Amino acid sequence: LTRVGIVGGGQLGRMLALAGYPLDIRCTVLDPAPDACASQVAPSIVGAYDDPVALARLATEGNVVTYEFENVPVETLRSIANRVAIHPPPEALEAAQDRLLEKALFDSVGIECAPYVPVDSTASLGTAIEQVGVPAVIKTRRLGYDGKGQRVIRDPRLAEEAWLSLGGVPSILEGLVLFERELSMVAVRALDGDSGFYPLVENTHRAGILDLTRAPAQEVSTELQRAAEQSASAMMDHLGYVGVLAIEMFQVGERLLGNEIAPRVHNSAHWTIEGAQTSQFENHLRAITGLPLGSTAPIGHSAMVNLIGSAPDASAIAAIPGAHLHLYGKEPRPGRKIGHVTLRAEDPLELELWLPKLRALVDDAGDRGPWLT
Ligand code: AMP
Repeated sequence: LTRVGIVGGGQLGRMLALAGYPLDIRCTVLDPAPDACASQVAPSIVGAYDDPVALARLATEGNVVTYEFENVPVETLRSIANRVAIHPPPEALEAAQDRLLEKALFDSVGIECAPYVPVDSTASLGTAIEQVGVPAVIKTRRLGYDGKGQRVIRDPRLAEEAWLSLGGVPSILEGLVLFERELSMVAVRALDGDSGFYPLVENTHRAGILDLTRAPAQEVSTELQRAAEQSASAMMDHLGYVGVLAIEMFQVGERLLGNEIAPRVHNSAHWTIEGAQTSQFENHLRAITGLPLGSTAPIGHSAMVNLIGSAPDASAIAAIPGAHLHLYGKEPRPGRKIGHVTLRAEDPLELELWLPKLRALVDDAGDRGPWLT
């Protein structure tokens, strides 16, 4: 029996815990909320992410500690590093928490990204606008997610107002990329350095939240897939990475620009539960507990749709051939991710046949929040 401590008890922790049972890997989650959704399926420690006592308990109970939530204070995580192995490395988390460090990481491993300049004063904003030009996006360095903490700037005269509306906090200005589509590369690296790569997938967002993932992405050349794998490989080797890593990218012609990394299991790979030989959750657990990795090969074609706000009728979803409903046991609330559905088919045409039906059921039920009204 191997014990894994997970910092964070949301749906990612829940799906990790569920993937652990068949492998005799038992997860314990740490979350400040007593009703965190992972605590329905795994023992939980209720405590703040920066509570040294709670983290120490997690370290004592687990043979290894991982995290599924990115806003864990890195210092607190490091405070238990002498007692228990932590995977992925806290350095990866540190970069994911700060857009400037993240860009520097992309640079240092040779992954091209949009031009960017740090902004921490009105003067540096002026310089940044001159260097990057418009249109550009101003993003706070920290605590931005799902499109929050960022504004598009088209008129340089409105730049200062945009930055101040984000709180005038340390930020970066980056060039707006006229991408053809957004792809993500989800990769996994084992303790012994062996690695695996899922096929590139295509993501579409609505109101800043991931809405649909198509896996594999259509019309990906062998070269593009290889380039994405090499980028992920360079980053994982550089960090001495262990576990699942997601890199969100923009495709511009045959170029891939790095946008964001997520040093954890990722929403754009939920399809792997039914759509790949080994799910990202199982592979993450295999990696961090020292087991050999499982195949990342896809099984047919998948489309994953997020359920936001409220759930569609389960029986209607279950009636769609190839549809797999995943509810996270969360209270419905506008704008909240409460589940997902993966539609899987052997034949891409079959997928196209059923996806509109699924889409209609999900849209009828969904409550994405006030921004759509
Ligand atoms: P992020 O929080 O950086 O992942 O940004 C959220 C979404 O905003 C991305 O998924 C893109 O759709 C869009 N976005 C972010 N940065 C840029 C950019 N530099 N150019 C164009 N679109 C962007």
